[in-house]
Amino acid sequence: MPYPVDLLPDPLPPLNSPEYVELSRKIARHTGAAAKAPRTFSEVLRRRAENRYRSMISRIFRELDLAIRQAPTAEAVQQAISAFLVSPRFDSMCRQAASQMVTMLAVGQKASWREAAAASSQGRRIYKALQQELRSTSIGPAIQSAVTENANLIKTVPRTLAKKFTALAEKRRFEGVRPEDITKEIKASAPRLTNTEARRIARTESAKASTALIKARSESLGLDFYTWLSVGDERVRSSHRKMNGILCRWSDSPNPEALFPGEDSHNSGGCYDPGCIYNCRCRARPVLDPEDIDFPVKVHVSGSIESIPSLKAFRQRFGLPEEKGD
Ligand SMILES: [Zn+2]
Repeated sequence: MPYPVDLLPDPLPPLNSPEYVELSRKIARHTGAAAKAPRTFSEVLRRRAENRYRSMISRIFRELDLAIRQAPTAEAVQQAISAFLVSPRFDSMCRQAASQMVTMLAVGQKASWREAAAASSQGRRIYKALQQELRSTSIGPAIQSAVTENANLIKTVPRTLAKKFTALAEKRRFEGVRPEDITKEIKASAPRLTNTEARRIARTESAKASTALIKARSESLGLDFYTWLSVGDERVRSSHRKMNGILCRWSDSPNPEALFPGEDSHNSGGCYDPGCIYNCRCRARPVLDPEDIDFPVKVHVSGSIESIPSLKAFRQRFGLPEEKGD
């Protein structure tokens, strides 16, 4: 049972403060398994980033809707969109929304990495390495590129809207609809279209950015394996439900639709990591140490799923060094 988001304090207590630890314990008790606490907690943080992102994008688009509403004709609507597109205010709002979302994710992720380290058998050793890593800025480039990518993506919306309106106006003119009625229809459809876009971008892109940050940090720590985790509700794609719990590697991303052909296989997105396809809420939990894996385990290896019975077999299969003393 997921922890009710409304019960969480806002803002969350500072990381590793007594209140923070107590909250983690409370979530663990609520979900019935302490091991699930890190997962639940970081999912909550990601959703919080998504919601904030959606409301910031919606605010940008409300200004666009307003400019459209004030335009007297269909041509004026197009001009209003063009003017909005090149305004410095639009540019800075896009960057602001994107950077706030990515920052929230980056902060939230420090929490889940610490929790992952605490839950690991190698916790103390990894925690020391992590402390150093979290202080350094080695994932700075990943943060920057996620911000730029997202700001650019928001910027594509007005242009797409303009194209849609051009097509709609042409169609209606052809059908003999009066110009003033065409303008009315265009104005009425704008808020609905922008709302849908805000929701889609916030959901898809926050999951994607979240994975990009986890991947960047995993790479900087030399961690290649992660566990694919799906949210586990009925909205999850059937192929992603089957991916739940499967071990994957960043260096060998799976193709879920090809691995588990079903009703969604026509929608193949090729090879990708959790969260990196539209409307996907799955996430990657990095494997900090092979000792933390529950055997037998299913592992994705270049296009097929292998079952590996033991830690020894796992080390042999992937050429990992034997256990070394600390
Ligand atoms: Zn998914």
